[in-house]
Amino acid sequence: WLARNRSKPGRDSGLDTWVLHATSAWTRQHLDMPKEQVIEHLHGAFAEMIGCAVPAPAFTLAHRWLYAKPAVAHQWGALADVDLGLYACGDWCLSGRVEGAWLSGQEAARKLLEHRL
Ligand SMILES: Cc1cc2nc3c(=O)[nH]c(=O)nc-3n(C[C@H](O)[C@H](O)[C@H](O)COP(=O)(O)OP(=O)(O)OC[C@H]3O[C@@H](n4cnc5c(N)ncnc54)[C@H](O)[C@@H]3O)c2cc1C
Repeated sequence: WLARNRSKPGRDSGLDTWVLHATSAWTRQHLDMPKEQVIEHLHGAFAEMIGCAVPAPAFTLAHRWLYAKPAVAHQWGALADVDLGLYACGDWCLSGRVEGAWLSGQEAARKLLEHRL
C-alpha cells in the first residue's frame, strides 16, 4: 500500500514524500529484520512496482507498527443495536484506514437517522 503524502491537501509540495506499507504477511515473516534492511527492501519493491529507478531518498524512517490494522478484515460497516440506542463505528469495522473510518461513521449515521424517522 502506497500513499504520496504531497498529494494530500495542505501538504508541502516541495518534497516528494511517500509512505510505503508492507503487507501483514510480509511483516509477520520479517518482524525482527533490522530497520535499514526493511527500508532497502521496500525501496526496491517500490521501484519495481512503479517500474522506474527511484533516486536515493533524502530521508527515511521505518516503523514496526504491530497493531496498525485489525487482525481480521471485517465488512461490518457499523454495528448497531437500535433498541438500546447503541452505535459503534470506526476503521476497525472496515478497512483499518481513514476511508474505512469515514464510511463506517456515515453508515452509523445512516442507521441512526433511519431509526429516528
Ligand atoms: C501515524 C499514523 C499514520 C496514519 N496514516 C494514514 C494514512 O496515510 N492513510 C490512512 O488512510 N490512514 C492512516 N492512518 C490510520 C487512520 O488514522 C485511522 O484509520 C483513522 O484515524 C481511524 O479513525 P477512527 O475514527 O476509527 O478512530 P480514531 O481516529 O482512533 O478516533 C477514535 C477517537 O476516540 C477517542 N477515544 C478513545 N477512547 C475513548 C473513550 N473511552 N472516551 C472518549 N473518547 C475516546 C480517541 O481519543 C480518538 O479521538 C494513520 C494512523 C496513524 C496512527
